[in-house]
Amino acid sequence: MKYFRSACVFLIPGLFRGIAAWAAEPPAEKVEYCIALHGGAHSVENRFTGEEEAQCRQSLARALEVGRKVLAENGAALDAVEKTIRAMEDDPLFNAGRGAVFNDLGKHELDASIMDGSARQAGGVAIVATVKNPISLARLVMIETPHILLSGEGAEKFADEMRGRPSIERVPNSYFDTESRRKKWLELREKEAKKTTAMLPALHPSTVGCVALDKSGNLAAGTSTGGMNNKKWGRVGDSPIVGAGTYADNATCAVSGTGIGEEFIRNSSAFHVSALMAYKQFTVDEAVRHVLEKVMKPGTGGIIALDRTGRVSMRYTTFGMARAVADSTGKIEIEVSK
Ligand code: ASP
Repeated sequence: MKYFRSACVFLIPGLFRGIAAWAAEPPAEKVEYCIALHGGAHSVENRFTGEEEAQCRQSLARALEVGRKVLAENGAALDAVEKTIRAMEDDPLFNAGRGAVFNDLGKHELDASIMDGSARQAGGVAIVATVKNPISLARLVMIETPHILLSGEGAEKFADEMRGRPSIERVPNSYFDTESRRKKWLELREKEAKKTTAMLPALHPSTVGCVALDKSGNLAAGTSTGGMNNKKWGRVGDSPIVGAGTYADNATCAVSGTGIGEEFIRNSSAFHVSALMAYKQFTVDEAVRHVLEKVMKPGTGGIIALDRTGRVSMRYTTFGMARAVADSTGKIEIEVSK
């Protein structure tokens, strides 16, 4: 509770802006494929400077193009999601893979999950420390094991077993270090020592997520993160948990969330969006809006979701959320600050 209260203090400015929406309009022409991604929800304290904004825009554009190309060339939604997220994990700008935040021991523990909406199959990894691209290990959990979520030493051992797979590269934990994250981590620890605050929410540019619709009508979703700045050793957020931070079902939608993980877990937020579409016939945008406005606490996160007609909803109750979308009609939109 203490954790939630203190995190809220930093996200609350989003409240004064109300819920923010973007790209929720029904597509004007038939959409054959579509990809949307987020680069994390951010608080007012962590809003972008002009220079950072330009950098983030470029990073989002690069990642978007990776996934768009896969889909345009008849690739599967699952491949588009994995490849897009790998690109963002390799980009030190994001709090996923290289660039991940530090935990309270000064180390990085990474979480990720992926879901295939055609079979409602999913895989996730939590608290991994030496896997360069956790999203790819999550996909192998889905394909190669009867399980959905592997964590900590077990996930590392599974990565050992997957040695030789081109998607699995191992790195020392220090590979994930970046000076900007270290600075934010030290600043937060100093504030905590002075007891001016207990916990900041995730920094910007933050957690990454992607949803995709391919030409065969299949949906997929994935999310990857370093979690919350200065999080407790062993803490697992929503990103590796299917139904909380990630969900995909061809019958409804593909979803990825970002924000305070505990709030997403508590409300099964990603599944909640899908359930509103399945049981209440909500549109994808109505469902996202309902979950953010009526279910989750205000100012706690953002959600991107995509249905199989190519309708996209990207909403947040935080100050901002970096996000982008591209589809077969030629639409490309990128928004960084708000
Ligand atoms: N949801 C992530 C977590 O709680 C953080 C984020 O989205 O920024 O681990």
